[in-house]
Amino acid sequence: MSTGAAWSPPHNWCDRRCERCPIASTCGVHVACTRRRAERVARGDDPDSPEAILEGVVRTLESAVRMAEQMGREAGIEIERPLAQPPVVLDGVRVQRVGERVARALAQVHAPADATSEPLAEAADETIALWSLLVAKAARVFSYTVDFDPDIWARDAEPNLLLIQRVRDALSCAFDQLQREWRGGSIPDDVWDGVEHLDRLLSPLFDCVNPSAQLYLEVLIAQGLAPSPFVARD
Ligand code: SF4
Repeated sequence: MSTGAAWSPPHNWCDRRCERCPIASTCGVHVACTRRRAERVARGDDPDSPEAILEGVVRTLESAVRMAEQMGREAGIEIERPLAQPPVVLDGVRVQRVGERVARALAQVHAPADATSEPLAEAADETIALWSLLVAKAARVFSYTVDFDPDIWARDAEPNLLLIQRVRDALSCAFDQLQREWRGGSIPDDVWDGVEHLDRLLSPLFDCVNPSAQLYLEVLIAQGLAPSPFVARD
């Protein structure tokens, strides 16, 4: 299915941990975020304030809308015309539900009396971050299964499925760490049930990744062109 030769830009299949990403200096997303941060610092504003973060989100959305309008014009699409109701992706809905259920259960890890333990809090945060990324990426890939387009699949779904496999492995390690730090507690059954459910949903999709995509990724890694988490700078 894929030749691996025309993947979407790396910021579409990374984990957004720019601080450890080896290609941050050439990544448009990271460069734009760094520029905005520098502008706020120069204005004397707190770059980490909720207002600053919201401003960043708004500017990113505005930029995305401008790009979409431009692409629509180039493709001859009447962008003022109301869009048809998008089809419901049943597996996408299942992913969303299981994602919320597990996230709620994981959030309880902060509640016990020993939650002041910093290693426990860090392990819980890492687990929630990895789970959230996994669910978001799974939902993205499932959205491509409706009106299937082999080009879009090869360009964006395949690298994201390779990312999902990487994140899923990291999540297993994070669960081990969480269990070690959570003395007197144990990870709720709801979490394990949810993770198993997501694994079952994803399993058939992994069979749709062409072996050439894995080879292409390995070349990118060897050349230092793959983003975090495929290559992580310490
Ligand atoms: S993790 Fe790397 S590829 Fe992704 S947004 Fe950050 S710098 Fe870009």
